[in-house]
Amino acid sequence: MMSQASTPADPVTTCARPGADLAAAVQAVQRALTADGHVGADAAPAVARRLVRLAEHYGNHPFTPLEDVRRSLDVDRASFSRLLGFFGLVPELRHAVETGPAGKYWQNTLLPLERRGVFDSALAHKPVFPYIVGLYPGPSCMFRCHFCVRVTGARYDPSALESGNAMFESVIDEIPAGNPYAMYFSGGLEPLTNPGLGALSSRAAARGLRPTVYTNSFALTERTLARQPGVWDLHAVRTSLYGLNDEEYEATTGKRASFGRVRANLQRFQQLRAERESPIRVGLSYIVLPGRVHRLLDLVDFIAELNEAAPDRPVDFLNVREDYSGRGDGRLSEAERTELQEGLLAFEERVGRRTPTLNIDYGYALHSLKTGADAELLRIRPGTMRPSVHPQVSVQVDLLGDVYLYREAGFPDLDGADRYIAGRVGPGTSLAEVVERFVGDDRRIAPHDGDEYFMDGFDQVVTARLNQLEADVAAGWGDARGFLR
Ligand code: SF4
Repeated sequence: MMSQASTPADPVTTCARPGADLAAAVQAVQRALTADGHVGADAAPAVARRLVRLAEHYGNHPFTPLEDVRRSLDVDRASFSRLLGFFGLVPELRHAVETGPAGKYWQNTLLPLERRGVFDSALAHKPVFPYIVGLYPGPSCMFRCHFCVRVTGARYDPSALESGNAMFESVIDEIPAGNPYAMYFSGGLEPLTNPGLGALSSRAAARGLRPTVYTNSFALTERTLARQPGVWDLHAVRTSLYGLNDEEYEATTGKRASFGRVRANLQRFQQLRAERESPIRVGLSYIVLPGRVHRLLDLVDFIAELNEAAPDRPVDFLNVREDYSGRGDGRLSEAERTELQEGLLAFEERVGRRTPTLNIDYGYALHSLKTGADAELLRIRPGTMRPSVHPQVSVQVDLLGDVYLYREAGFPDLDGADRYIAGRVGPGTSLAEVVERFVGDDRRIAPHDGDEYFMDGFDQVVTARLNQLEADVAAGWGDARGFLR
C-alpha cells in the first residue's frame, strides 16, 4: 500500500485535478498493485490506467451512475467489478476523489449523509425522522429583495405566533439525540421577526442542539437581544449580506439606509459577544454577482471593520457563492472565469493580510473554479425531480406547522408550493407522524414545470445522489452504489 510513501504532492492524490501528472499517477498505482501482489505485472498497466480514470471521473463528476462509467471505460461487468475492488485497495485514489474539483460535494454532503445511512432510508422509503429539520419561524420580513420568491406582502398573521411557537417547541423536543446539527432556523421569511426565537433557541440548546440562524440581521439590535436573551444560546448567527453600502442594499432589498443599520447591529453584536465571552459564532454569506468580483476586496475590509469592534473575537466564517442564475446553460465564459479566478486570488491575499483567522467556505462551484476546473453544475429539472422527494433527509416546518419538502417552497402564498406540503404538525400530530404518513401512504408529487425552483442547492445535491443510487441499484451495482460511501 502506498499510504506511508505519500506526500501532499503525491501524483495519485492529486490525479483528479486539472493539469495532473496522470502518467506518474498511473505508474504509482501500478507499483502499489503489483507490490502487494493484487495484480500481475501484465495486467497492471491497464488496471492502473482505468483506476486513475475512475478517480479523475468521480473527482469531477460525482453523480454519474456506475453503468455509464463502465461503458466509457469499455470494460465488461466482471472486469469493472474487479476494478471497483482494486480502487478500494489504494486509499490515495479515494483521497483524490474527495479532494478533487468536486470534492466539496463528497466531503460536505454525500459522505456525511452516507455514513448516517440517510440516503439508504430514502431509497428504501423508510419512514424515519428527517435528518435535518429547518424551522421557518418568521411571520414577516422587512426587506423586499428583488430575487426573493416571496409573494410581495405575503406574511403570516401575528395571531399564528403563539400556537406556532408551541408547535416549534414540540418539534424541537421530538428531534432524536445524536446529531447536534439536526436543526436550524431560517426562512421562508425573516426568523428574527418572531419574538419567540430566543426562547426556541434556548430550548434547542438545552436539548443539546446547536442551531444556526440564517438572518438578514436588520432586527439583530441590542433591544432585540435584551428582549430575547435566548438568542445567545444559538450556535451561530449567519447574516446574509445584500451589498456593502446603503445604495447596494436599497437596490436589492428596497429598504433605505438598511446597510448602515445591519453594520451597526453586527458591530454591536461583536462587542456584546466579546463582553459576554459568548461562544456563539458569527458568520456572513455573500453572493458574488457577475462582473462584481472586485467587491470581494471591499467585503474583506468590511469584515476587518467588524473585527475592530471586538479584536479578540473576529468574525468566524464567511460563505461565498457565485450567482450563475442569469446564464442559460449556467456556464461561465472564459473571460468571466479568468476574472473570477484572479478576483479570488486577490481576495485571498487580502484575507491573509486583514482577516487571517476567517474561515471561508466557497461552496461547490467556486471551489471547483479555484482548482481550475469547471464545476459540475446540477441541473435538476421536473423530469429528474423525485415524486417521493426526500423527507428522510430534510424537511422544513413553517409557523403554521406545514411541513415543506423543499427548502425554497416554505413561503406563504407561493404559487404551487402547497403541493410540496407533506402534512401539518399541530396538537395531536407530531413531525414524525407527518413523515410516517407521507412515506407510509406512498404519496407522490408529480413535478410541474418550474417546480425545480422550490429546490435549493442542497435539495438538488440530494436529488441527484438519490437518482444516481437508484440507477446503480437498478443496473445490478447495489453493492457498489454511489461509488464512494
Ligand atoms: S430574500 Fe430574505 S431578506 Fe430578502 S425579502 Fe426574501 S426573506 Fe426577506
